[in-house]
Amino acid sequence: MHRVSNKHLIYAMSPKNEPVLTVEAGSVVTFETCDCFEDQIQSADVVFNELDWNRVNPATGPVFVEGAEPGDILAVEIQKIKIGTQAVMVTGPNLGVLGSVLTENIVKVIPVTDNHVQLDSFSIPLNPMIGVIGTAPKEGSISCGTPDMHGGNMDCKQMREGTTLLLPVNVPGALFALGDLHAAMADGEASVCGAEIAGEVTVKLTVIKGKKWPLPMAVNQEHVMTIVSHKELDVAADQAVIHMVNFLHDEYHVPKADAISLISLAGDVRICQIVDPLKTARVELPIQYLEQVGFSREMLK
Ligand code: CA
Ligand code: CA
Repeated sequence: MHRVSNKHLIYAMSPKNEPVLTVEAGSVVTFETCDCFEDQIQSADVVFNELDWNRVNPATGPVFVEGAEPGDILAVEIQKIKIGTQAVMVTGPNLGVLGSVLTENIVKVIPVTDNHVQLDSFSIPLNPMIGVIGTAPKEGSISCGTPDMHGGNMDCKQMREGTTLLLPVNVPGALFALGDLHAAMADGEASVCGAEIAGEVTVKLTVIKGKKWPLPMAVNQEHVMTIVSHKELDVAADQAVIHMVNFLHDEYHVPKADAISLISLAGDVRICQIVDPLKTARVELPIQYLEQVGFSREMLK
């Protein structure tokens, strides 16, 4: 079993990041993660202005996957997400949907007990998920706070146990990293954060060759998903639909008019988040319709 300590943190996805571990394709790797504030907030008494904002959204890694070459797909099977016992939340001026209204910074420390997070008097079921998960872009450097075609800060609640995320390999070895776990988060992430928490994630990293799929995509027992990030949420939503149409058409020869009609009836267009530098939308098409035209989860192994 391979393990990457949360001492190995990056704040941007970049081809220049030095890999901290090299593994064979097909390996299972456990990543220890800090929360999105790099565990700087241990109590609600923290002095907000003393937080180091250069240490936010750290991802653990990157890991070099042998045999992953530009043009391949990295399949990341999320096998296990373990979270700590205490989450934190922050909101305030310039943060989240209410950033123009709020006048004070609010820090909340949120206990995790009995499979729920306890937010004030509200008890909310856990849905542990990964906020930041991606590969290096071909060139340049993308902050771990930003989502894009390489994955990154998609804040998609479907990045949970049982989901396989499909990411582009842009550089040799893919340079995969992840972080920013949430104990719970709803579509939208309206306040600017989920129940931010440290933990560890176990993934299986597989390389798929010879497929030109519209990435990032995700697959679980229920759905096949296309995910798109863009400055404008409506563009992200349209593009996620177009990616699913293209997948059905290019890979399975479904006529485009039939594909868009199928999505109109059966494919939910959902919001991942509306608070990051680019907004993220996804389409969730029940897997049965994909299987009907020839898709199989076995292709991801
Ligand atoms: Ca995030
Ligand atoms: Ca977060």
